Amino acid sequence: MTEKDNLNMKAAVAALRRYGKLKEEAARIGTALAATLLSRRTVCGKPGCGCRTDPAQRHGPYWQLTWKEKGKTVTRRVPAEAVCVIREWIANSRRLRRVLAGMESAARQAAALRPKDTATSEGLEPRRN
Ligand SMILES: [Zn+2]
Repeated sequence: MTEKDNLNMKAAVAALRRYGKLKEEAARIGTALAATLLSRRTVCGKPGCGCRTDPAQRHGPYWQLTWKEKGKTVTRRVPAEAVCVIREWIANSRRLRRVLAGMESAARQAAALRPKDTATSEGLEPRRN
């Protein structure tokens, strides 16, 4: 192995170690919900109800979750008691996406740095054939 190969190998090992740490971090993240939480105040159809004319008399607020499914926006009402937990799940989803992006970046670095003669599918051991 040349000196450059050696340095690249060390950097690849470091990148894979980073990958492993991020993978452990991902496993520790709780329920991850990829959705947006919205609070809505609505207008009803009852004659004489002030909600149509006065924004302050609108009904609610009601909590809604929205997300995309096959290109379409899906909306579901959620009870106010669930909002606290749902916020946490949404924060978990952001964390998970950050960690996954870090894993992908570390894997790209490892793939690009790895000297040809040490390429194995599993890990860091040089090929022995
Ligand atoms: Zn109304």
